[in-house]
Amino acid sequence: PSVVEIGSGKAVTKIGGGHFGMIAGPCAIESGERLDEIAGEIKAAGANVLRGGAYKPRTSPYSFQGLGEEGLKILREVGDKHGMPVVTEAIDPRHVELIAEYTDMIQLGARNMQNFVLLTEVGMTKKPVLLKRGMAATVKDLLMSAEYVIANGTTEVVLCERGVKGFDNACRNMLDIAAVPQVQLMSHLPIIVDPSHATGRPELIPACALAAAACGADGVHIEVHNCPEEAMSDGPQALLPEQYKDLAAQIRKVAEAVGKSF
Ligand code: PEP
Ligand code: MN
Repeated sequence: PSVVEIGSGKAVTKIGGGHFGMIAGPCAIESGERLDEIAGEIKAAGANVLRGGAYKPRTSPYSFQGLGEEGLKILREVGDKHGMPVVTEAIDPRHVELIAEYTDMIQLGARNMQNFVLLTEVGMTKKPVLLKRGMAATVKDLLMSAEYVIANGTTEVVLCERGVKGFDNACRNMLDIAAVPQVQLMSHLPIIVDPSHATGRPELIPACALAAAACGADGVHIEVHNCPEEAMSDGPQALLPEQYKDLAAQIRKVAEAVGKSF
């Protein structure tokens, strides 16, 4: 199993090879003050990578699209203040260089998993990558997309199962938990689970996060917001910081029971 190192200096997080990643933060970066409050709480709860979107892939062009470079600056400042490496999503090859300057890890989202031009551009930065599974992609497709990134320069890729399109809209997506051991049979790359985008519902997130830890995932990716009603994106699926704190303690116990360290 490969170990992916994210960040530099004092703020380094390892994911894979027995190291468990706790990636958390709001869906979108909304303001410095808000991100700072959320980061302080999740860091204290055990999160070891701060996430936040500066460029959002929204279904509607009229929805909030992210703060762009201003958001990247906020993310960097807040991450440094709290000693957390930071990850943000790239949705456009034209932004990749700028994103690489400000962040420790670049996310490739579900909607762009097979955007090969973007995968190539991100691979060329040699930054660690968080590659999310497309909503209609097979595990093989996911691994081939990882190859695009790796073939272009980046060797550090963390895969993420975030649910695939199902037939039941009770859940936002259908979490394919078996993809975790399946990927581990086929690849040396770490695989984490995102129960937030998989379920879309806070009441389902804890059970799915614990299932991920129990089945050997290398980490979890969870959206947290301190005022979900005011969130500019994905508010309905956000956990409150206190809910994240309780869950993080449980995740730690389960992950440690299956041999992971933090
Ligand atoms: C996100 O992480 O906010 C996101 C848009 O995720 P996904 O690509 O999994 O939908
Ligand atoms: Mn989101």
